[in-house]
Amino acid sequence: MSPVGEKSLIKRIRRRVRSGASIITGIGDDCAVLRMPAGHQLLVTTDFTLENVHFRREWHPPEVVGWRCLTRGLSDIAAMGGEPRAAFLSMALDRGIPQKWVNRFLAGLLEAADEFRVPLAGGDTAQSAGGIQADIVVVGSVPKGTAVLRSGARPGDQIYVTGELGGSAAAIARMREGKVRAADYERHFHPVARVDVGRWLRQRDLASAMIDVSDGLSTDLEHICEESGVGAEIEVAAIPRAQVGRPAQQVNFDLALHGGEDYELLFTSAKRIPAKAAGVRVTRIGQITRKSGMALVGEGGLRRRLEARGWEHFKGNL
Ligand code: ADP
Ligand code: MG
Repeated sequence: MSPVGEKSLIKRIRRRVRSGASIITGIGDDCAVLRMPAGHQLLVTTDFTLENVHFRREWHPPEVVGWRCLTRGLSDIAAMGGEPRAAFLSMALDRGIPQKWVNRFLAGLLEAADEFRVPLAGGDTAQSAGGIQADIVVVGSVPKGTAVLRSGARPGDQIYVTGELGGSAAAIARMREGKVRAADYERHFHPVARVDVGRWLRQRDLASAMIDVSDGLSTDLEHICEESGVGAEIEVAAIPRAQVGRPAQQVNFDLALHGGEDYELLFTSAKRIPAKAAGVRVTRIGQITRKSGMALVGEGGLRRRLEARGWEHFKGNL
């Protein structure tokens, strides 16, 4: 447990959280009591943030770990076209974790909560056997029947992605070699969940399938293909690659294709999609095919098989 102890830590958290429209009863009771808009369905997502798997204390300032912890959950809600309503934080800390670290972690997490107007409505606090483990639960909602699923992609749909890819993975690759300036790798240290874009697409019924790019484009596209029972081809030249570092340089192709944790949205559509959605760049990168499997189409139409080589657990960590 952290130096101040469980009760006093919860008190601190409770003092700092803001309420919100969805909260009838927040922190302090056995359960939170939430209010959902009439005619909505609930969305619930849960994501681990584990020391030395998702972050390293020597690489990531505590505020960044907190911000990214909530962003993982918000991004899942965004990928359904949903509205985030409340968050829950379970954390386990060993006795050696400085209180300062915990305070700064919470500051980062609550900054994201304020920015997205998602109140922290509860959680759990316990002593870990070693290191820092957190789990974030985000509850959201969508009007009945409008959640954008992974399973809706159809042959002939075009494939789109928001923003640029590979910027987050590039930061990790770079940090293995030495220090980096967080400001040169924004998408890694301060990713912004695309909640606005997800909502914008859902309101216009523009996306047939959607997922957030958390494991890497190749792996997340494969999820859409498998759930939809379709294949996909991606145009090599079309993939928007992040510019990172100082001086800023385009990330290499493999990082854009397989690197995770960019928290952009990957979606399919049979409709015309503008170049910007809710103020965010949207790029067409390929199309859905009837034939299963994924292909990369290079210059001159050269095709090769695209394998999912993004982040997969039990294959290693940071
Ligand atoms: P219980 O014994 O019912 O699990 P706790 O003493 O663990 O209750 O929690 C008391 C209150 O504090 C609950 O409302 C719970 O949701 C909240 N809480 C506990 N830990 C956290 C946390 N890390 N972040 C936010 N709220 C928390
Ligand atoms: Mg508890």
